[in-house]
Formats: sequence, C-alpha cells, structure tokens
Amino acid sequence: MDQITDRKARRLDGAPLAAVIKNEVSREVVAFKAKYGVAPALAAVRVGDDPASAVYVNNKIRACEEVGIRSEHIAMPAETSETELLETVHALNSRDDVDGILVQMPLPSHINETRIIEAVNPDKDVDGFHPVNVGRLALGQPRFVPCTPAGIIELLDRNEITISGANACVIGRSQIVGRPVAQLLLQRDATVTICHSKTKELASVTSRADILIVAIGRAGFVGKEHVKPGAAVIDVGMNQLTESSAIQALFGDETERRLQVLSKRGYTLIGDVKPAEVDEVAGSRTPVPGGVGLLTVAMLMKNTLKAAEMRRS
Ligand code: NAP
Repeated sequence: MDQITDRKARRLDGAPLAAVIKNEVSREVVAFKAKYGVAPALAAVRVGDDPASAVYVNNKIRACEEVGIRSEHIAMPAETSETELLETVHALNSRDDVDGILVQMPLPSHINETRIIEAVNPDKDVDGFHPVNVGRLALGQPRFVPCTPAGIIELLDRNEITISGANACVIGRSQIVGRPVAQLLLQRDATVTICHSKTKELASVTSRADILIVAIGRAGFVGKEHVKPGAAVIDVGMNQLTESSAIQALFGDETERRLQVLSKRGYTLIGDVKPAEVDEVAGSRTPVPGGVGLLTVAMLMKNTLKAAEMRRS
C-alpha cells in the first residue's frame, strides 16, 4: 500500500453542528418571545405533489417545531396558476404575523420561478433568493444569505478550517449554491476560483484548492485527481445511486452498509465526490448524507429569527 492510501480524511459531520445551531436559535427564540410576546413565524408554500419537495418542506416545518418558531405549511395543488400563487405571496407579504416566506422550488413548469422569487418581500425572503438580497450579498452587505452557502461557512468556521488567505475553489455556479458561496468566501478573504461545465483542465484548477466546494449534481464526479492533499472538501451534491456495482466501486469500507440501504430503499445517497477515493487524499470531507444538507435547515431557522428581529427593530 502506498503512502496516500494509508490516509483517511476527517469527517465533517453536519448533525452535531446543526443541533448546536438549532439550540442557539431556540434560546434566542425564548428571549424573542419574552420581549415581543409572540413567536417568530415562517410560512412555507409548496405547489404540486413532488415527493422530494414534500420531504424538504416537512423537514423545515419539523425544525420550526424544534426551535419554537411558529410555522404555516401552505400546500397548493399542481394546477395552481401563477396569478393564484402571486396572490398567495402578496397576502403573506402583507400579513404582520408572518416574518419569513419560502416558496419551495422547483415549481410546476407553467409558473415562472423568477416572477415568484421577485414577488416575495425582500425583508421576508429567508431563502435569500430575491434580487435585492442577491445584490446585497454581491456588494458585501449581506442581509439574507441563501441557507446552504451560509451553512457551509458555519461548517468551515466551527471546524476551525481557516478561510482567510486560503485558495478556495467552487465547482458549480448555481444561484442557490455556487455563486453565493463564492461571494461569502471572497468576503472572508479567500482567493476564490469558480469552475463550471466549460472549465478547461478542471483537475489542474481544483487540485490547487485548500478548500474545495463541490456543487454539481453528478454522482461521484470528483476523484482524488481533483483534490489537493490535505484539502477540506465540502460535498454539496445529493444524488441517488441505484447500482450495487457502483456502490462497491465508490464506498470502500462503507460498502456493506450502503448495500443494505440499497436493498431496503432501492437507492443510496451519494454526493458529487467519490467518498473512499477522496478520503485517501483530502484532510477533511463532509459525508453525504449527514453533512451540508442538515445545516441548510438549521440556517433557515437562523434566517427566520433574523427576519423577525429585523422587522421589529
Ligand atoms: P445546478 O443548478 O444544477 O448547477 C450545477 C452546476 O454544476 C452548474 O454551474 C454546472 O455548470 C456545473 N457543472 C455541471 N457539470 C459540470 C462538470 N462536468 N464540470 C464542472 N462543472 C459542472 O446545481 P445546484 O442547484 O447548485 O445543485 C448542485 C448539487 O447540490 C445537486 O446535487 C443538488 O441536489 C445539491 N444541493 C444540495 C443542497 C443541500 O442542502 N445539501 C442544497 C442545494 C443543492 P454550468 O453552469 O456551466 O452549466
């Protein structure tokens, strides 16, 4: 066995961190209620029957219950028109007892998502997707930061991974992950490179990064050739793997457990990174599941509390 394969990256678990953040939020919610006599409130709007969206919204509602935030789940049928959805958003904008609004994406194809995002009052935009909040982030004056990027920064900070001065590389330039996380890293004085599907010689760029953030949406795409020895690898991807041969090739000593998950559920979750292979090179890595995803919901709780406080200050 060569030197590299002896190494095993440190696991950057999201669960304990998400619990700490939610605990902090619950304590602040208690103080908020004592001060204002009401709980912060989140309205979650979902349109249609997409099972993944239903799971995401239910997780968010459950997190609200855990931290003491009042929540409303507005489930609308798939045939809801854009006008009807806009009216719902406008009604939530004008309600004084609603602090945060999220509209779960994706929306049915007959609804223009941009129009809906732009209809949400920026002061209640706890997802941080409204152009005003995107612009504020780009100006270095963030108000509501999208939850997954905000969670990534918390994860780096609380694991004492130094951002300032680090070479950070983000693979993916989506509005919800790649671009905002690159902005946040830049604000924290990292030297930031953003890669995408047109990047040439990807591995030669990514393998210079001390912090590598991967948000592509392709199962096990990133291998050890993409990773600098000792780098922190943040795997944002969330993909379903359904073939046992792929599981055997990717999961190393986790293979047995993953095959059990496959036979029980018909799939196992994998990120955008080859877990066993990258662990031979990286200094640390977030697992999938159990990494970044858990922090996303915790940061939504933080944003909702922030919205409630800002509306009253
Ligand atoms: P997205 O909107 O689908 O964008 C994917 C990005 O990856 C694009 O910028 C694309 O480049 C880039 N890309 C695709 N193929 C590439 C390649 N071969 N080389 C380099 N770059 C490539 O992605 P997203 O919404 O950010 O989601 C990414 C992943 O994160 C998905 O698996 C999603 O499920 C997951 N996710 C997880 C959470 C969480 O809470 N854990 C939250 C959000 C998303 P172009 O721009 O050139 O097309």
